[in-house]
Amino acid sequence: MQQLTNRSKVVSDKKMTFLEKIYLPAIVKGMAITLKHFFRKKSTISYPEQTRPFSEIYRGQHVLKRDDLGRERCTACGLCAVACPAEAITMISAERKPGEENLYREEKYASTYEINMLRCIFCGDCEEACPKEAIFLTDRIVASEYKRDPFVYGKDILVEPLDPNKRIDVSKRQTESVLKFKQNKRFAHNK
Ligand code: SF4
Ligand code: SF4
Repeated sequence: MQQLTNRSKVVSDKKMTFLEKIYLPAIVKGMAITLKHFFRKKSTISYPEQTRPFSEIYRGQHVLKRDDLGRERCTACGLCAVACPAEAITMISAERKPGEENLYREEKYASTYEINMLRCIFCGDCEEACPKEAIFLTDRIVASEYKRDPFVYGKDILVEPLDPNKRIDVSKRQTESVLKFKQNKRFAHNK
């Protein structure tokens, strides 16, 4: 049969010697490798006591931002869901009622907004697609869980707290070039 790659090896079927039968050379070889690594500098760290420095552009858990008055910025336009390559975002939109102007910035808002963190690949496309500066990825780590259900994050986890002291800082992601692009009304995306 024609070989598709050159990775296959012909296996020898010669009889094993006495030493090979008792596996002694193989055990000694294995122990030597273990010993060699024993004295090398460790490449692991004792997390969570120790952490590694994060990249400036690390993309972790999302946040749904509020504006300066505490109103939710998301208008449930669905652009983030359309842009998401993993189809991780779902939402249900609702119309703002009179008297709710202090809760939602736009006339339409997301009554339900969910991100399935097991699907998400943290690409940041949702953030780039959002015309309302409503969704950002942050440097927070998505917590581990034992079951699948808790990984579907709803508004209770995604929307940032109302308390101005507990707001999520996304200034690292609002670089000058991003802000400049988002202010350019030439792009329909920014209108
Ligand atoms: S970061 Fe990427 S994969 Fe995750 S929700 Fe946003 S668009 Fe989807
Ligand atoms: S793109 Fe922005 S405003 Fe539109 S639904 Fe997504 S988070 Fe909300």
